[in-house]
Amino acid sequence: MPDPSDETTDPLEAQLADSFANFRQSVGVRLGATALDVWDGDMRNHTFRMSLMSLAQQLKGIHDWRNGTGERLRVLAGFVDIMLPNALADRADGTHLVAIYTPLFVALQEFSMFCFTQQDFFRDVGDPPAESAPLPDGDVPGMWLLRFTLDGGKVAPEHSQMLTPTDDTRYAASLYLGFLMARFVWFHEYAHCFNGHVDYVQAEGLALRLHEVAEPLGVASFAKRTDQRSDTLRALELDADEAALWASWQVQATGRENFESFANFDIGLRKRLALFGAYAMTWLFEEFQNFMDARYGLSHPAPYLRLQNMLGLSRQRFTSDEDQAVQASVESEFDRIAAVIPGMDRTAQLMRDLKGSEASGELARLQARLTELRPELALYRFAPPDGS
Ligand SMILES: [Zn+2]
Repeated sequence: MPDPSDETTDPLEAQLADSFANFRQSVGVRLGATALDVWDGDMRNHTFRMSLMSLAQQLKGIHDWRNGTGERLRVLAGFVDIMLPNALADRADGTHLVAIYTPLFVALQEFSMFCFTQQDFFRDVGDPPAESAPLPDGDVPGMWLLRFTLDGGKVAPEHSQMLTPTDDTRYAASLYLGFLMARFVWFHEYAHCFNGHVDYVQAEGLALRLHEVAEPLGVASFAKRTDQRSDTLRALELDADEAALWASWQVQATGRENFESFANFDIGLRKRLALFGAYAMTWLFEEFQNFMDARYGLSHPAPYLRLQNMLGLSRQRFTSDEDQAVQASVESEFDRIAAVIPGMDRTAQLMRDLKGSEASGELARLQARLTELRPELALYRFAPPDGS
């Protein structure tokens, strides 16, 4: 399979570039926003383009999927220039729209690079003592960049240098981690589409679209605001998280990594990075939610609960000795980063709370709501033509 960066005559790339006009139009009409044109040949958009190309290759067969009424799944995906750290899934005129806001993509790249500047993080990769191990300066890496640039600041080269891993292998691993975190977000948004969430919330009048981080205006402007509505929307997030976690893991477990530059990394390392990326992304959304000063729990589980849910799911799902070792190692890596970043949750605490009555009570309630919802969602769900 060609590297997503390959700019020759890949028909998929030509197809994606062609559909960009529709994406741009849809983003303009639905969101009143501008789409980032990753196909314009600008090298600054190279990583954005690679992320989209990789995704399109991973999900190649998905446009043959149909729902119960025989309708085909149509999705337009891309980046939008809205200066918030967010992502969304939407639908209009029979076509789904999946978007990552550009600041989110930039922020998660900064976060993943920061991780590999830490000498204790993934100590088996490259030459950790070569790294400078900078401290985050009071802000979460990724958040700093966002806050600073939104205030109109220009990032000094020293800042980027400080947050760039020195060792070549660690630098490559940090880029890969950024792509894996973005992949987790893409899969999560796609799950909102093919699991029927977007169609369901629109049909039921629960929301116009699903945002990753609640946007104060977007949420406040919609009608039915009840506990039931809140629980429903939160249950859908757990469902999308589960699908994205599973899909991210499966890319590695079934040898379908399509970033050629990273596919030669050891399979164990790729699984660890994929799992760490999923946890870190879920945790980062908590920070983004704080940043947006939006109300917790209105449309999303507190990401703290989402992260607990993910840790619990991993322990249930990835049960071979080898995969449990991957799991344990990822929890240690998470704690090593949590030791450096103020306010980041530790996995032991997360697991204790998961077992604790309050958290498991809330999680249990949302999981029960999800079970209740499944027959209704089934009407809107898209599945492959062979019904698998
Ligand atoms: Zn979501």
